[in-house]
Amino acid sequence: MSMKRLYFTTFSVCVLVFQAMGEILIRDIFDNTINDRKYVKVVQGFIVNKMKEKEVIETIAEFISKQFPRNCPSCGRQFNTHADFIKNTTYVDKPVSYDAENDDWQPEKPLGTMAISNCSCGTSLALYSQGMNKATLWNLMNWAKKKAQEKEITISDVLEEIRKKIGQHVLQNEKKAEKDTEDV
Ligand SMILES: [Zn+2]
Repeated sequence: MSMKRLYFTTFSVCVLVFQAMGEILIRDIFDNTINDRKYVKVVQGFIVNKMKEKEVIETIAEFISKQFPRNCPSCGRQFNTHADFIKNTTYVDKPVSYDAENDDWQPEKPLGTMAISNCSCGTSLALYSQGMNKATLWNLMNWAKKKAQEKEITISDVLEEIRKKIGQHVLQNEKKAEKDTEDV
């Protein structure tokens, strides 16, 4: 390879890297996702996922907790908290990421992820990712993708495992909060 060609190639690669970095930065600003920037490391235009399982569990649990209180539209049963919901519903099927099914790991308009549980009256109730900011969703999706590849299982299998762990985390936190109240 001649020196001229080498310089040209290096220059081209730099332009692509800066373009990709700029694009992601602009997306972040428009999405007001500055707070999630700590999870987003841009290397050569790819998002490198730095999330650990503990962060994944806590992030999703916190997001889902905002979907309560809610009512079953059929029987009217009120679920005051996520813990209340976990204790009084049954998981149905495995959670589905519609974006992952489309093989879209950085969806501009996310179709979302959904986990269905049945109320004791038999009605299906969904927990969903709508409203989650894109950077967080992308990070979670890419974490799941990596996990699926590592374990050679499907994304839904990863989501099923993490749903169970989130459930345990939420119930443990509830127990801890009750204990703290008793101690006071
Ligand atoms: Zn119901």
